[in-house]
Amino acid sequence: MELTSKGLKDFFREVVEMIEKEKDYLCDLDRKLGDGDHGVTMSIGWQAVEEKLNNELIEIEDCGKLSVAVGKTFLNAVGSSVGPLYATGFMRGAKTSKNKAVLNDCDLTEYWIAFAKGVKDRGQAEVGDKTMVDTLEPFARKLETSFTNSQDFELAFSEAVNAAEEGMNSTKDIISKKGRSSRLGERSIGAQDPGATSAYFILSTFLQFIKNNSAKTV
Ligand code: ADP
Ligand code: MG
Repeated sequence: MELTSKGLKDFFREVVEMIEKEKDYLCDLDRKLGDGDHGVTMSIGWQAVEEKLNNELIEIEDCGKLSVAVGKTFLNAVGSSVGPLYATGFMRGAKTSKNKAVLNDCDLTEYWIAFAKGVKDRGQAEVGDKTMVDTLEPFARKLETSFTNSQDFELAFSEAVNAAEEGMNSTKDIISKKGRSSRLGERSIGAQDPGATSAYFILSTFLQFIKNNSAKTV
């Protein structure tokens, strides 16, 4: 597929909508492991992004510039740990899409791998620490191998989202070693990580977006 900057903006708007729907659920998850604000912080960040999309970013056609702006806006709006984590993800994605008004299958694969790696580098968490890395790392690995083998982005992304879902689910049964929830130690077992969940929701929103628009330039 080919994703134009307009398509990328449409996707970001779908994330805004999704977060509003999942806000309470994300807060419920964070209530069991942290301070109960994950849905609210995500909402604050994505509402700020929407405001930018409707104003300063209207004319922007460079997917790189657009992604940098999304990352920076999110960072400035969000006070909690996910601010710099997601911001770094989108800014790393921006590096792979610099000066590009249209992203092809290869560009999109690179974008999402860079996104996942950016979050990991920023937070220094490993798989098994009960964070969003448990969703993002298996996702990125699967995306890379599946796209290399098939050269079919939609198939690769869909397999990668399945790996992301498994990773998200795996956070239920493990002890938190990073972030606020690590203070709970053994008591963190049994609850699913909110960041791993929001990361999965963002990826599955993109999957839904490409399925709705496959074989088109959007
Ligand atoms: P806070 O913990 O500051 O209240 P949020 O509730 O918005 O922030 O986000 C919590 C989520 O942040 C966790 O569920 C976890 O997935 C993620 N997180 C925290 N620390 C890290 C880290 N070092 N690396 C990756 N993700 C992290
Ligand atoms: Mg929190």
